[in-house]
Amino acid sequence: MIYLDNAATTKPSETAFRKAEEFALRQFYNPSALYQAGHVLQSELKKARSALLCKVADENSFEWVFTSCGTEADNQAVFSFAKRGNAVTTAGEHSAISAAFSELKNRGTVETRIAPLQKDGRVDVEKLLSLVDDKTSFVSVMHVNNELGSINDINAIAKRVKAKNPRVIFHSDGVQAYGKLPFRLAKEIDLYSVSAHKIGGLKGVGGLIKRKSLVLPPYLIGGGQESGRRSGTENVFGIKQFEYSAEEKFERIKEDYARLKEYNSLLWSGLDKDIFVRLSTDDGLPYILSVSALGLRGEILLHMLEDKGVIVGTGSACSSNAKTRYSKVVLACGYDEKTADGVLRISFSNATTKEEVEDTIRIMNETANELKRRMHS
Ligand code: PLP
Repeated sequence: MIYLDNAATTKPSETAFRKAEEFALRQFYNPSALYQAGHVLQSELKKARSALLCKVADENSFEWVFTSCGTEADNQAVFSFAKRGNAVTTAGEHSAISAAFSELKNRGTVETRIAPLQKDGRVDVEKLLSLVDDKTSFVSVMHVNNELGSINDINAIAKRVKAKNPRVIFHSDGVQAYGKLPFRLAKEIDLYSVSAHKIGGLKGVGGLIKRKSLVLPPYLIGGGQESGRRSGTENVFGIKQFEYSAEEKFERIKEDYARLKEYNSLLWSGLDKDIFVRLSTDDGLPYILSVSALGLRGEILLHMLEDKGVIVGTGSACSSNAKTRYSKVVLACGYDEKTADGVLRISFSNATTKEEVEDTIRIMNETANELKRRMHS
């Protein structure tokens, strides 16, 4: 089986898993317990927070709050800070942000404004800035788009947003960027969401990075864990496994980036151009290649490929529950419904091999041509 849906989730790192398993079976105590074992666990959590944070941010200016997933981190950012005036986001966001904005709109507490995308999947920065005014309380711009891999220059965008209104709280969804895109947070970023399972961690662990001086209202209230910012007994096993898998991932971040850039080009250059058009642009994150099989249905192709041992996606795994047939992100880039209907998202991990890419080229070409013949016979 060739697994190329790593933007949906990755296989957990086995080394990190075994190490965390050994740790959690030994250190099974409650980290909030008053006896010595509780203190040991508190310091282990502190170590994990620091190890995960320092990979992308200066520890003197930022801090890390564990959450149960990227969605929780995104929701906490939106509902904690989009409280007055208007809130601005982009048409490219994952449903963890876009559905939270729809909820804000339903509640009628703040006006919501959505900035359009360019053809390459990045936000149109000038149009985004035109939506920011002196009543804007919150702006959220995703770092890497989960469907196309487009990269927004969030440091530069945050700087320009703050120049227009310094009181804005600037958030970025970094779920598809963390551990894949070499990057450091600028001081203008207030909040940044992360998820473990996109880089060899487990599902159900995430983090919200916050500027130290920003007061983060708790989203879950109870025992006061995470310095009162997120109550609930910490998922020690998941957190340690995230820490260990991030160590592995960041150690090779530049190497993986360069290798996957090569695989991404290799895959695209081998695909049959009489059928496939490329949606992801060259300067996007090399972990994601979105293409459209023109005139074919991506979903049918996905199932045929699965039968032949290749697993790919059609876009966001989380929007597979949505009622709409077409990806709203692909339409927001200006593509027509025919193009949106044929979308396949191929996403790599550090475990992807060149042989798998070569086999995928052959199988995708054969399968798409087979479906095309079937449709015309
Ligand atoms: N944001 C983006 C860009 C994502 O790709 C995802 C997951 O696909 C999420 C948020 C949600 O993360 P989680 O699955 O940890 O809730």
